Amino acid sequence: MLYFIEVVLPLAVAKTFTYQVSEAEFDFVQIGMRVAVPFGKTKIYTALIVGKHNTPPQLYQPKEIHQILDEKPIVNELQIQHWNWVADYYMCTIGDVFKAAVPSGFILESETQLLPKEVENLPDHQLKDDEYLILEALRHQSSITLQEVVKILGKKTVIPTINSLLSKGAIALHEEMTEQYKPKLVRYIKLHVIYHQQEHLVELLEILSRAPKQRELVLHYFQLHVRERKPIAVKELIESSGASIAVIKALIDKDVFEEYYIHEDRVQFEKKEDASFELSLAQAAAFSAIEKGFQQQNVMLLHGVTASGKTEIYIKLIEQFLKEEQQQVLFLLPEIALTAQLVQRLTAYFGNQIAVFHSKYSNNERIEVWNNLLQNSENARVVIGVRSALFLPFSDLGLIVVDEEHEQTFKQKDPAPRYHARDAAVVLAKLHNAKVLLGSATPSLESYYNVKTGKYGLVELKERYGNVVLPEIQLIDLKDKYFRKRMTGHFSDVLLENIKETVHNGEQVILFQNRRGFSPYVECLTCGHVPHCPNCDVSLTYYKYKNQLKCHYCGYNIANPTHCHSCNSLDLNAKGFGTEQIEQELVRLFPDKKIGRMDQDTTRGKFGFEKIIDSFKNREFDILVGTQMLAKGLDFDNVTLVGILNADNLLNQPDFRAYERAFQLLTQVSGRAGRKEKKGKVLIQTYNPYHNTIQQVVNNDYAAMFQEQLYERKNFKYPPFYRIIRLTLKHKDYDKLKEGSLWMYNVLKQHLNIPVLGPEEPMVSKIRNEYLRTILVKIPAENHLGKTKKTIQKILNSFEAVSHYRSIKVSANVDYY
Ligand code: ADP
Ligand code: ZN
Ligand code: ZN
Repeated sequence: MLYFIEVVLPLAVAKTFTYQVSEAEFDFVQIGMRVAVPFGKTKIYTALIVGKHNTPPQLYQPKEIHQILDEKPIVNELQIQHWNWVADYYMCTIGDVFKAAVPSGFILESETQLLPKEVENLPDHQLKDDEYLILEALRHQSSITLQEVVKILGKKTVIPTINSLLSKGAIALHEEMTEQYKPKLVRYIKLHVIYHQQEHLVELLEILSRAPKQRELVLHYFQLHVRERKPIAVKELIESSGASIAVIKALIDKDVFEEYYIHEDRVQFEKKEDASFELSLAQAAAFSAIEKGFQQQNVMLLHGVTASGKTEIYIKLIEQFLKEEQQQVLFLLPEIALTAQLVQRLTAYFGNQIAVFHSKYSNNERIEVWNNLLQNSENARVVIGVRSALFLPFSDLGLIVVDEEHEQTFKQKDPAPRYHARDAAVVLAKLHNAKVLLGSATPSLESYYNVKTGKYGLVELKERYGNVVLPEIQLIDLKDKYFRKRMTGHFSDVLLENIKETVHNGEQVILFQNRRGFSPYVECLTCGHVPHCPNCDVSLTYYKYKNQLKCHYCGYNIANPTHCHSCNSLDLNAKGFGTEQIEQELVRLFPDKKIGRMDQDTTRGKFGFEKIIDSFKNREFDILVGTQMLAKGLDFDNVTLVGILNADNLLNQPDFRAYERAFQLLTQVSGRAGRKEKKGKVLIQTYNPYHNTIQQVVNNDYAAMFQEQLYERKNFKYPPFYRIIRLTLKHKDYDKLKEGSLWMYNVLKQHLNIPVLGPEEPMVSKIRNEYLRTILVKIPAENHLGKTKKTIQKILNSFEAVSHYRSIKVSANVDYY
């Protein structure tokens, strides 16, 4: 009898492949184990076993495997089922999913680049001969590929050796980033609590009269404390008092002052001794409604206004699942930058039952989380992660929480699998018989529609925690302000007044401008020429600081031109404005205030985002200017004013979701104001104060937004009434692409009895020298989705079979966002 295994390769090939194994190997291997296999003429890949059988393949002579890599499965059968669903639904291959799902250290292949890493305490004698040889080779080269290791060692079974070196930390993979985020610790100082009592303080000052410098400092601290009403950093105290560090130290030694670090003591700073808390009445009602809902529904949507304390409800629910069901919990977040705050809140509560999983983690850390889950370890009861955490080896999932479920970052754009993590989570939960809780202050139209049709349950939380009121939103008519000359730069008089007052009170301001850079583009006033990127179809963005024009798509940049490249005129004008320009105007308007900026340019460093959030939370800035990054669930307790510089560019987007997104973004940004105690204020500058969407934001009227947008979606044949598949075709040759996309369009049109639109040049129709065309297929919700996709897949296959078109790259985006 012959023995075969079916494997998946981490490649975009549609099929599984058959390899031959010996009888002994056949008896040993299980589905979910990895094997190293030869592929093509010389390549080695790590493949995943998904089947065992005795039927030789019809079309090719099966090869033998190089070696079995695992003693136990590293992927379970539920995962394989889920991955198959993702591949099927999102029209990609299971190889695409496999590759996206596992840490790169799990799928070493010929081209994998290995880099040397400095390690202390790794004596040579701890290394096997083969390991020593690899490290020797790396001493002379900055990197080597796995293929080269095969040559160096003169054998094909090299993957275990490389794995051993990886786990010893002696080498690293090229893709990985190993840097760990260390929160910045700022040293603060405060007076010991006993001196909060008048009599003790008087006593102290009397004692200190023999140490006048110390006495003076205590008095100075008091003044500062009363005036600033915020924590006082040691540095600040030294600077403003002129006292020496020795004086401070003396007072610390006497237990008059206590020093603390705001990161470690944040809980204390918020006057909470430990992480435990009670739900408010409204929260408790929502909590039991969710519990009750779960008896009938698998998916519940928690629609809770900003700062209603959704996180606290999640925490209690998770606790319940851990305690009563003893099951695993997955907590999905739209973006990892946010987790710094959230992870802190959750770890304070659950301790090391929490495992965090995200792309900035090093390979070893990710493998550790993977293995912990595989063993159903106590250290991974709750996994917090971004979308790819869906693919981890959960064995007994009880609950999935999807926070900020409306966020578009849950949908992966490129590369495949182009999945929506919220939707894929609902499917994963079904496989595990688990429950799903979606949470948002501004639910997506899709989810809310699912509530309306009875597919999901709904729980509403309409008040903020702790009797805090929702911020008051005021509109500022830009047309009027410009007409009456009440603008200073991009600031109306009203906005300026309010900023002044807020910072004067020691409170903080967030300003939102949905564009980065100094101004979007430069225009010639004589001939109208706008400098464009030669590689991409976009205008270049002007950066004042570097005096540069730069492309946001490919990074191409040139020095800011002094004259028009088209007509030589010197009359060039910067159009529109971005965050950088706002920041500079603020520096001029408020020279003695500290201004921070948060956008893709300032957060580029590995932990840039976290650093800015930390500094702002530590009140190192008075005003923070930023793009939509600011809208993402951040909890700052001292922000009382939010200003939106121009709401209109959110409305004027060529996208059927533009109004829904504008509503979400404006509501979320507004939600950053007045989250604790003091009432917040939001000022929105706009040319269209009567626009329905703007009015819906002002009135906090989600229902009206939903009704209106749903109506539009129906009229114009968009989700949730139609499912959308967007095909993108790409090629360097403009004419060939044009011809190919027309072919595709016509064939689709012929075979599908549903709307097919295009082929269209997208907004940005050329990226990195490749032209783009898109075709939109709209599938009525009542149609059989699977059948339609099969037809489309067949057409894609026959397109590829036309030799003239083979070089045109086509990708499908199902449920296009
Ligand atoms: P949301 O996620 O709904 O915007 P958060 O969960 O961030 O709101 O809660 C807003 C603020 O209120 C947070 O600072 C949080 O710590 C606080 N808070 C909410 N609920 C409670 C509670 N039950 N006990 C103590 N503090 C709470
Ligand atoms: Zn470019
Ligand atoms: Zn010109």
